[in-house]
Amino acid sequence: MAQTRIFMNASRSEADILFKLLDARFEEDGLPISVFEADEENGRFEISLYAEREEADRVFQEVDEAVAQLSAPPQLFREDLPDIDWVAHSLEGLKPVRVGRFLIHGSHDRNLRRIGDLAIEIEAGLAFGTGHHGTTAGCLQAIADLLKREKPRNALDLGTGSAVLAIALARAARIPVLATDIDPVATQVAAENARLNGVGALVEAHTAPGFHNRIFAERKPFDLIVANILARPLMRLAPQMANHLTPGGTLILSGILERQRDAVVASYVNQGFRHIRTQAREGWVTIVLRR
Ligand code: SAH
Repeated sequence: MAQTRIFMNASRSEADILFKLLDARFEEDGLPISVFEADEENGRFEISLYAEREEADRVFQEVDEAVAQLSAPPQLFREDLPDIDWVAHSLEGLKPVRVGRFLIHGSHDRNLRRIGDLAIEIEAGLAFGTGHHGTTAGCLQAIADLLKREKPRNALDLGTGSAVLAIALARAARIPVLATDIDPVATQVAAENARLNGVGALVEAHTAPGFHNRIFAERKPFDLIVANILARPLMRLAPQMANHLTPGGTLILSGILERQRDAVVASYVNQGFRHIRTQAREGWVTIVLRR
């Protein structure tokens, strides 16, 4: 059934108080509540409650009343989580998506481009990645945020799918991007999409499961790696990620469910990474780490 996430931001001590308050208030209703550190540098936490869509208005109201008892009540936000229907999902490829300066669109929506947009044209097709999925959008957001502060010089997009992230990086930063995928069909689509988006010379696509390809030794070290795969393979890849990233380099991981987040962060901290930020979207999290 479709769910709505009701969430708020808080410092560590406020988060403790909010969690206890909400846990006690909604224990009987059995509503799941999660707390995670959204921004380690600034010590910000995100507290989320998950309600069934039909009850979301009522729960939102109740949460609002519950936190109103506090001296400084946090601002409440809500987002409807998609009830993922994969057929409808592939049809969503028809709608354009905006994330930061990036506009991901199909060929029929070229007229929506505005001055200043970094427009990327991707047709919904055989490879994953039209920008609609929360994980892709989360990575695009993390890339947009990173590029505001620094300019990477040599990037890797592992699990590239349609190459949407590799193209975004190449277009926005004008840097070479190695784009790899375990699936040879995706690699083909990736190369074709890069060419169609004018970055065929910057994006090089190769088929490889994880880091199993000589190309990695030739192209490493990377100062930015983006990998939108899934929690388990990402945890297994942690030592090799460390091995292929420069010290101080940035790693953006996605394809991780909120409840898997701590385990993924722990396996990277074990490899000498520092957690910078976690961002949630539609039940998925995107994690930014630095080596
Ligand atoms: N980067 C795109 C696609 C993500 S989907 C986006 O963000 O939208 C995940 C992709 O990773 C799929 O294309 C899948 O084939 C690939 N993949 C899964 N496991 C992999 C592995 N171990 N090594 C390389 N690619 C992998």
